[in-house]
Order: sequence, then C-alpha cells, then structure tokens
Amino acid sequence: MVASGNGAVGLPTGMRVLRRGGSALDAVVAATKIVEDNLSDHSVGTGGLPNVLGEVELDASLMDGRSRHAGAVCALTGYRYPIDVARLVMQRLPHVLMAGDGAARFARECGCEERELLTPAARELWRKRLRAFGETPESISRKRSLARTVWRTIGAERGTVNVLALDRRGDVASAVSTSGWAYKYPGRVGDSPIIGAGNYCDSRYGAAACTGFGELAIRAGTARTAVDLLAGGATPADAARTAIARANGLEGRHVTRLNIVVLAPDGTYAGATTFRGVRYAVMTATMRRPRLSARAVVRAKL
Ligand code: ASP
Repeated sequence: MVASGNGAVGLPTGMRVLRRGGSALDAVVAATKIVEDNLSDHSVGTGGLPNVLGEVELDASLMDGRSRHAGAVCALTGYRYPIDVARLVMQRLPHVLMAGDGAARFARECGCEERELLTPAARELWRKRLRAFGETPESISRKRSLARTVWRTIGAERGTVNVLALDRRGDVASAVSTSGWAYKYPGRVGDSPIIGAGNYCDSRYGAAACTGFGELAIRAGTARTAVDLLAGGATPADAARTAIARANGLEGRHVTRLNIVVLAPDGTYAGATTFRGVRYAVMTATMRRPRLSARAVVRAKL
C-alpha cells in the first residue's frame, strides 16, 4: 500500500485486509476510514477545516482498477465516512459522482452514519483565520461577496488523504478523501472526487492519486496522466515526475503545490511533489509498520 504521509495511520488496517486475502478495494476503504476518523487531521473527514462560512464540505472518491468502476461524492456535509458513500454510489447508482444535497440524500437513503464534522479545534482555527481577515462568523455570514476573502485563503494549510493498494490477485484500487481547500468558497470542489484528476487506477497499468492544489490536478488531468504514462511503459518514478512537470507547465499558477503517489502492478511505486518536505507512506505485507519517505521534488515544466 502507498499513501500520502497522513495516510500512514490507516495503512496497518488496510494491510490487515490484504493479508487476509482481501481485495485492494476493501483495503483502501478500510485505511481511508481510519484517516476520516482522525480528529487531529484537519484535512480529512471529522475534524476537517470548513469552508469560509464554517461548514465542513467533504469530497471523496474511489476507483476499482479491476473493473474501472468508480464512485465519488463532493460537497457532502454531515456524514462520517464519505469514502463509504462514494463506494455506495459506485455500487448502487448508475452514476459516478454525486454532489451536495443529492449526495447527502443518497447517504441517508443508504443508512450511512451521520456526524457533526466541525470539531471545536477546527472551529477555533476557522475563527482565528477569520479574525486575521478582520471578520467574525457573524460578519462573514452577512457578506454578499465572499470572493475577496477566499482569495486570501490561498496560503492556508491544506491536505487530503490518498491511499493506493495492490492485492494478491494483482489488482489495484485507489481512494481519496478530503475536506478540500481550507476556508474555500462554499460549493468549491477540488480534484479529489474527480476521476482522472485526483484519482485514477487501472489494474493493467497501476494507480495514482494527488494532494495539493486540486485546481492544478483538474486542469492537467494529473492522476490519469500518470496512469497513461505507466501504460506507455514509464516507471512509477518517471510517471510521477512527468505528471507533476505537466502540471508545473500550466499558466497562471497562483496555486502552486501539487503532490502525487503512484503504484504499479509489479509493486514498484513512487512519490513526487512540487515542493520539498512532503513525504509519503509505504507499507508492504512484510512490514510491521508504514515507512515514511521523501518524494522526488520536480521543478521542471512540461
Ligand atoms: N487536493 C485537495 C483539494 O484541492 C486539497 C489538498 O490536498 O490540499 O481539494
């Protein structure tokens, strides 16, 4: 299994699924749920940072490399495990991506567990950020225009979890879950639930997923680019570097950070990033705990 650094907490659980002979799909879901429950992770699930109005809106997706079926939710509020809802979209609807109220309605219909997602700690971080903008929860809720405030959130802390797995049968699966851009405009959707942008896999070639500024991964189709490169014979290291370099080549890059993890069906893997200091996690069946490694830093533009 390969994950973004914050996914390390979930890998032992995912690996237990794989050791029992479970599928890559079951493993990525099990690992992702641990991260969605991690209150100290302010970028995923419960405890995630809210939009500029203080509401936590979650995006999540998963893809089964064997069938290339996928399911996703975006701007979902009030549910504990968005990755489960994404999986149910894949299994029970003729759709791939469900948004907002419709996604919540479907989660309710499926009996998914509801949850207050905004924790006291995340609320405090939001209030602090608003204070820095000269706003309060009351003043921001009365504002007609939020755009200028949202432009000022570009530098805010952000994150997402990526989890990739390879199972005994040789199949890969990929899962991504996030509370998205911290203090975003309500209704903003990132790359995480967009198949091809923040998440893609195909058991013939491998799996890839992204964290960082989703706007870049959407514009460059980054996860799909990496898997296409694997299909063309690239190694995971080359696929990861080239996919990031193509995003680096986009114009108007006021949003700058993008990270990727890649896993091939032969078990080779890689992580790349636009900035130093972003690690990724790996756990193989023989390891007792995950290992965190540095990613290749890619400055090239293609
Ligand atoms: N990729 C996520 C998004 O754009 C956020 C992040 O990973 O920082 O929603």
